[in-house]
Amino acid sequence: MSELRNAREISLPMDASFRWSVGEYMERFFAELGEEKLVGIRCPSCRKVFVPPRMVCEYCFAETEGWVEVGPRATVVAFTVAHVEVDPKSGGLRDLEVPRIVALIRPDGADSAFVHRVYEVGPEDMQVGMKLEPVWTAEPCGYLFDLPCFRPVKGGR
Ligand SMILES: [Zn+2]
Repeated sequence: MSELRNAREISLPMDASFRWSVGEYMERFFAELGEEKLVGIRCPSCRKVFVPPRMVCEYCFAETEGWVEVGPRATVVAFTVAHVEVDPKSGGLRDLEVPRIVALIRPDGADSAFVHRVYEVGPEDMQVGMKLEPVWTAEPCGYLFDLPCFRPVKGGR
């Protein structure tokens, strides 16, 4: 017990496998990804559109309703450049050979944004306000990984 009291780090081997229901709204969101579409849902009171969809508006607490196709283009709201990642074996950090860009992205027609990767651009060329387009996987199937990343629209702002 005294070892744990003084430990700054402990190693606990875990193998956690679980399943959970994504819920009615996210089920539809994923199904639309399978059709290479981004959809959100509108608040009937304040008219804001949320992507991914939410059941309750975070501004006026009304129940949302009314699906809206958004994008496919989107705008960079903020971004960061990752130079390290978590090593799944050790749990520690390891350097990335190529920096990875992660952005807060707002699809055209949406009032919310989500975090996703941006490829095909270097950190030096990233800008807030940059226009992006989705990159779909070769065979979308209604799963989160149908949209692995966004990339800059050529010549777009
Ligand atoms: Zn609202």
